[in-house]
Amino acid sequence: MKVKTLINGSFEENCYMVIDETTNEALVIDPGSEPERILNWLKGANCTIKYVLNTHGHSDHIGCNTAVCDEFKVKLGIHPLDAPMLINPQLNLSTFWGMEVISKPADFFLNENDIVTLGKNTFKIIHTPGHSPGGICIVNDNIIFSGDSLFAESIGRTDFPGGSTKALVTSLKNKILPLDNNVIVYPGHGPTTTIGHEKDFNPYFSV
Ligand SMILES: [Zn+2]
Ligand SMILES: [Zn+2]
Repeated sequence: MKVKTLINGSFEENCYMVIDETTNEALVIDPGSEPERILNWLKGANCTIKYVLNTHGHSDHIGCNTAVCDEFKVKLGIHPLDAPMLINPQLNLSTFWGMEVISKPADFFLNENDIVTLGKNTFKIIHTPGHSPGGICIVNDNIIFSGDSLFAESIGRTDFPGGSTKALVTSLKNKILPLDNNVIVYPGHGPTTTIGHEKDFNPYFSV
């Protein structure tokens, strides 16, 4: 399995393409902004895209959902609590940032403990509310896509509507801290890290 990253948009959001080299299938996680760049990048990989998954419903993560789903004829999944954000520029904060981002609605929901397969790989959905009510992480034995729940040595903002520092810290401690130290973290913004590094250096793990 291979993970490719495209940093895009003014918020420097990480759009991820997870490729299973055996089947040449791919998952696209959080296609944020810059549709032309993202479509060209995805086409260049020559994979069969299986799903588009959103870690949460903020505008910097969902802006190209429609473009990617339409181009590759694939379905969109998000946690049900963040699904209303897709079609509401106020809820997805784009109005707040002076834009109007509207995504296609969700085709299916990603709930706690749901499994998404990619070739022989399985990813589990863990619900990590706090940055947004329906924030999720997408996890397997070796990697976690943490959205804006966990960043390298930091966590996502909790001052947006529906955010809660207490909820986010609880999510991190209960659901992310128990993962193996060598699990690689692919966050929604900024560089990759590992669970072991975060246990040592993330101040929010010791709150
Ligand atoms: Zn966010
Ligand atoms: Zn973000």
